[in-house]
Amino acid sequence: MKARGGQHGHDERDLSAFVRVRGAREHNLKDVDVDIPRDALVVFTGVSGSGKSSLAFGTLYAEAQRRYFESVAPYARRLIDQVGVPAVDAIDGLPPAVALQQQRGTPGTRSSVGSVTTLSSLLRMLYSRAGHYPPHQAMLFAEDFSPNTAQGACPTCHGLGHVYEVTEQSMVPDDSLSIRERAIAAWPPAWQGQNLRDILVTLGYDVDTPWRDLPRKDRDWILFTDEQPTVPVYAGFTPAETRAALRRKLAPSYQGTFMGARRYVLHTFATTQSALMKKRASRYMVGSACPNCDGKRLKPEALSVTFAGTGSAACSDPDLPPTRNTVAPMLTATSASAPPPIISSDFLPPAFFLASPPSSRSASRVAMPDSLPCKSQAETKQA
Ligand SMILES: [Zn+2]
Repeated sequence: MKARGGQHGHDERDLSAFVRVRGAREHNLKDVDVDIPRDALVVFTGVSGSGKSSLAFGTLYAEAQRRYFESVAPYARRLIDQVGVPAVDAIDGLPPAVALQQQRGTPGTRSSVGSVTTLSSLLRMLYSRAGHYPPHQAMLFAEDFSPNTAQGACPTCHGLGHVYEVTEQSMVPDDSLSIRERAIAAWPPAWQGQNLRDILVTLGYDVDTPWRDLPRKDRDWILFTDEQPTVPVYAGFTPAETRAALRRKLAPSYQGTFMGARRYVLHTFATTQSALMKKRASRYMVGSACPNCDGKRLKPEALSVTFAGTGSAACSDPDLPPTRNTVAPMLTATSASAPPPIISSDFLPPAFFLASPPSSRSASRVAMPDSLPCKSQAETKQA
């Protein structure tokens, strides 16, 4: 990469609006001068080997990280992989920075802006180390603030924020029909549905009366029971013939096992390999916000922790909207009139680098540290 032209005629520019690189010689860079706008999304493109990574990571990021290091407590520096000092004459206007390694693989249904950029990890660390805990509550780990981990997820909704239930209305949309007329729409079609109906006949339930006229007790058992009795089935017999056959202990067509409608729907939804069956089951399920976590996806202990008055539900918000509002006041609260900062301003650096794929040499050197330095409340007060 060879670039010239930033040197002349730009001196009158507002220096704070640009990162000025002069004489970059890292790897294959040949004395590159370049001015890069600040507060903007900047992308380097070019053919393989043209020096994109050498400029972005070998030079800019290396210098930014070096400056970031200077603001970090010595004990925390060992947690971060150091990139090294770049070969460059001068870089002006560059803020301290950390790099975010690009995530590979297919994002799952629980992926979000926060998880893909690892911003969520930083936020969880913030709540863990600097959050305000209720009295007598033990300190939680960062993982306790993730709805995607077993120890952080709300135990009721398993971290989804929603619970799915089936109701009489969802499973029996037309209660003027009898069971024989397929009042229980949620039951399987074809033979399996007929099998369940025949089992009800053996069990003595009325399958020819409109659903709404059946006793409440019978309706509730048929829909909601978890019992699975196995009984003789007389295929093709009328209810009267079935009763007679049972009295005379005739050999049945087969032994059939009952499954209540709710159990059938939830079991099918959870276990079927067929997308069609899953979709059919979902038609009878009603989603609502989880009553335990109120849709916030975290366990109660994690939700009780706050930071700057904002609940830790921010950790599981897929769009991370409160992050800036939560953290910014802490970062500016360093003036004399303001209360002492809870964390030092080096916690969230002002710039981020998005690394190229891990297969590239440069990116492998700028892996995101597992833990960022973060001063706890107590440590800051001592300082
Ligand atoms: Zn929940």
